[in-house]
Amino acid sequence: MEKSYPEISFDNTEFAFEYKSDKQLKKAHFLFSMMGKPWLVKIGTRLAPWSINAGLPVKGIIRNTIFSQFVGGETLEQTAAVASMLGKYNVQVILDYGVEGKEGENNFDQACEEFIRVINYAATQPNIPFMSVKVTGFARFSLLEKLDTIMHSNEGSLMKRYLKAVDGLSKEEKEEWQRIRHRVMRVCEAAAAKKIGVSIDAEETWIQDPVDALTILMMDSFNKESAIVFNTLQHYRHDRLKFLKDSYEAAVERKFILGAKLVRGAYMEKERRRAVEKGYPSPIHPDKENTDRDFNAGVKFCIDNIERVSLVVASHNEYSNLYAARLLMEKGLPLNHPHVHWSQLFGMSDNITFNLAHAGCSVSKYLPFGPIKDVVPYLMRRAQENTSVKGQTGRELGLIKKELKRRNP
Ligand SMILES: Cc1cc2nc3c(=O)[nH]c(=O)nc-3n(C[C@H](O)[C@H](O)[C@H](O)COP(=O)(O)OP(=O)(O)OC[C@H]3O[C@@H](n4cnc5c(N)ncnc54)[C@H](O)[C@@H]3O)c2cc1C
Repeated sequence: MEKSYPEISFDNTEFAFEYKSDKQLKKAHFLFSMMGKPWLVKIGTRLAPWSINAGLPVKGIIRNTIFSQFVGGETLEQTAAVASMLGKYNVQVILDYGVEGKEGENNFDQACEEFIRVINYAATQPNIPFMSVKVTGFARFSLLEKLDTIMHSNEGSLMKRYLKAVDGLSKEEKEEWQRIRHRVMRVCEAAAAKKIGVSIDAEETWIQDPVDALTILMMDSFNKESAIVFNTLQHYRHDRLKFLKDSYEAAVERKFILGAKLVRGAYMEKERRRAVEKGYPSPIHPDKENTDRDFNAGVKFCIDNIERVSLVVASHNEYSNLYAARLLMEKGLPLNHPHVHWSQLFGMSDNITFNLAHAGCSVSKYLPFGPIKDVVPYLMRRAQENTSVKGQTGRELGLIKKELKRRNP
């Protein structure tokens, strides 16, 4: 008998904003309207970090506006209210300890302990199946950059280039790298013990090769029976579709499940700027169409190989999210297939998240938490990404207006 599937529509604003009161919806409307003004965002993204560092009393304003829209709380415990509210609508959570850019061995050790605390906490909650980490939370950026540079000058497979690069480090650097590996290993071990997924974020291309190598090594150790560790592949890079296929080949050969979180990529301007400044070819696709084509091809590749790949569609793009659902339907697979998960950032694209959840898909909000001063880089990225009235802000505003009108005709 043919399987029947529910209709999925991202236009349903009633489901999308069911969790928001009129007052909360109006506040979101105000916030996205403000973010639609590029001059304001330009000033705000410069002024906010400076004001916080200078000790000016701006935390209250930030807490009540952009922070409450995009962040789950200042502490792990404060995320509980948001997580339980999302749970009521069958929406899950990817917890993200959002502290960025802290260097120093003490900070790296502390971050490692915090990640393990997040895992232990997630294991006690009904709807927190994943947490996310950034390797730069455990590792000196310049050491990652050095390894990446050496890897680029070596030939052969990613693993061969990685082993050779580590071999070429000084004694002190080798010890430092050992400590980094140990931290990542401890987090993955804790996650495996509690069956919580660890999604390793992708960052700048000039540190990504060692991050990829480390992540694949972790998958080889922890993903034998189920997907615990997930790598992130940025499809604005023109080499990522091939990398996805290579990672799959490695998974087949080494008999592990490939955890693949697919994103388009968050650092496009920075990447292009650096390529021009340093005079190398840009690693980024020349236009959005190419990024979209590769992203959707990546989704298809993962679903075509769903026995061996566990996919996270991490996107606000309506077509790509729906495309993943359609591919499952075409294959007669359940929408809550254990190897397919969707995720959107907290505070954005509720129309996608809540409608997917309503259709029975396994879907989450990526929920950062951390002290205001430490999550500022994350908040500034959200503000910048939401500046274009033609882009995300336009979409968000349109949906909020539609729902306000539906509620108050
Ligand atoms: C749950 C989740 C986790 C994430 N984790 C990460 C992560 O670990 N690392 C990371 O880098 N990002 C991450 N992101 C952000 C993501 O990479 C995108 O920046 C963001 O989601 C916007 O892309 P989109 O697929 O949602 O939608 P869209 O709005 O359809 O696409 C916008 C994206 O398309 C690409 N693009 C836009 N214009 C062009 C152009 N002219 N040429 C080429 N490409 C273009 C850019 O990547 C841009 O961000 C995450 C996003 C989500 C939802």
